[in-house]
Amino acid sequence: MRIQIVRSVALRKEQDMKNVAFLTYNTVWKNLSSGWHEFPNGHRLFVLQNTKGGGTLATGPIGVERRREEIEGLWRQLQRELSSLDHVVIYLGARGTERAIELAKELPASKVTFVSCDCGLAFKAGLVQEAGLQDAGRILCECGGHQTMAALAGLFIATGELGLVSADTTK
Ligand SMILES: [Zn+2]
Repeated sequence: MRIQIVRSVALRKEQDMKNVAFLTYNTVWKNLSSGWHEFPNGHRLFVLQNTKGGGTLATGPIGVERRREEIEGLWRQLQRELSSLDHVVIYLGARGTERAIELAKELPASKVTFVSCDCGLAFKAGLVQEAGLQDAGRILCECGGHQTMAALAGLFIATGELGLVSADTTK
């Protein structure tokens, strides 16, 4: 899979950020632990993810209720760090999307980027609109968002920016 990085006007104020959170009920990066990571160039990454790793638990796909609880747990951790965060990147998968968007209402659109696979994309876009977050950054990704979240995290660490990164599944 090839990762394309496209720079555009959507970058606006997201340039040279110092503290960015990545939130997903999957994992952001293989072997990257949850919590704060500080890099020599001063960029700090706050990872909020499924502590068990992977998209599904070993026992099989987890239910909607469990997913909701997981998202709420991650959100509480995010809230504690909000004042020190410049931006929050949130993965919207096939499940748990409603709750994640509902919680994101607390944040100004300028501080949010949604990374979303195209499962139920129109439905998700509708929820984002209803939440008043239509001006948030939006990045299309593959199902699970693993490659795209990792690419975005890598870009942020290296440059302090979040470009429009999308996994090109056609090549
Ligand atoms: Zn999907």
